[in-house]
Amino acid sequence: MADDYYSLLGLTRNATAAEIKAAYRKLAMKHHPDRNPGNKDAEEKFRKINSAYEALSDDKKRKLYDQYGEAGVNAGAAGGPGGAGFEGFGQGVDVNEVFGDLFENFFGGRGGGGRHRAAQGSDLKYEAEVTLEDAFRGTQLPLNFSRAEACGTCRGTGAKPGTGAKRCQQCRGQGRVQFSQGFFSMSQTCQSCAGEGQVIENPCKDCRGQGRIRRDAEIKVKIPPGIYDGATLRISGEGEASPHGGQSGDLYVHVKVKPDPRFERHEDDLSLTAGVDVATAALGGTADVPTLEGEPVKVKIPAGVQGGATFRVREKGMPKLHGRGRGDLLVHIRVDVPRELNARQRELFEDLRKAFEAARAAPGDPGVFGRLFGKD
Ligand SMILES: [Zn+2]
Ligand SMILES: [Zn+2]
Repeated sequence: MADDYYSLLGLTRNATAAEIKAAYRKLAMKHHPDRNPGNKDAEEKFRKINSAYEALSDDKKRKLYDQYGEAGVNAGAAGGPGGAGFEGFGQGVDVNEVFGDLFENFFGGRGGGGRHRAAQGSDLKYEAEVTLEDAFRGTQLPLNFSRAEACGTCRGTGAKPGTGAKRCQQCRGQGRVQFSQGFFSMSQTCQSCAGEGQVIENPCKDCRGQGRIRRDAEIKVKIPPGIYDGATLRISGEGEASPHGGQSGDLYVHVKVKPDPRFERHEDDLSLTAGVDVATAALGGTADVPTLEGEPVKVKIPAGVQGGATFRVREKGMPKLHGRGRGDLLVHIRVDVPRELNARQRELFEDLRKAFEAARAAPGDPGVFGRLFGKD
């Protein structure tokens, strides 16, 4: 048994048109699906009050309803595919007439009057690879890629030069159309104009009305000194052009810093391994250590240094991406034992061995070499 239309709206049979409208407004606000997301009861209630209002707000339908009940109203739609619509009675109710600005305030402007905004172009992603030296100095990196660009012939409008776009007849320029299923809750993107609100009658020949053409782009992106591996740079407006005059998308450049054969990076610090010969390790001295800027730096090696010792050279690492100054250079010492000796070196090493042996046989002051190589 169907609910009585009058009692659904909380009215009696002799309600005036104004009372029907007021009652409907109040109930539709209360039960609108936007205010009751996921609430099936509210949805059902909303559907019913819409049916009631559609019937009672139209004099002809109301008379049929008063006389024959719901069957009388629906009879007008007999043969329609849904069977329950009101096609036989004309176009239903104009939402804006009923709700006006209230609708905008409550439901965020759905239901007509909404201004369409030209869609922004898509963002693009680019994977770039730089050397550690590039990351150290910063560089201008050329990027080559394909993207949709605004058509120069029609300046992105898609219309043949000298012609323009016309307001879409289907949606009257709104970009959205209402359709009557529960008659005012539904609006969808206009299919005639794909939501643009306008249609092009004389399309530009170069872009076939698209306003955009796919082209190979080459742009240079500035890689700042100190950039990290895995950093992403956003280049505003270098993505794809928007269809029909909106803003272009952005280009996101994902930067990979290639591993370097000499230097390892730890945030802003660099490290490397420096080999020193046995004599320098024992006697002390200096080592020329390479740096990323090219000029080697002299590192003081203390007498008796051990393999694996680390020295920190301040401010010789990577430039700091954020803030001033540079990281440090960490020098790991490797003592290089000679693999081959010439005659003179062999002679000296043999003398050295004798000296170590003598020092072990006669304890006392072990001397430099005794301290270094132990006395077992
Ligand atoms: Zn064009
Ligand atoms: Zn349209």
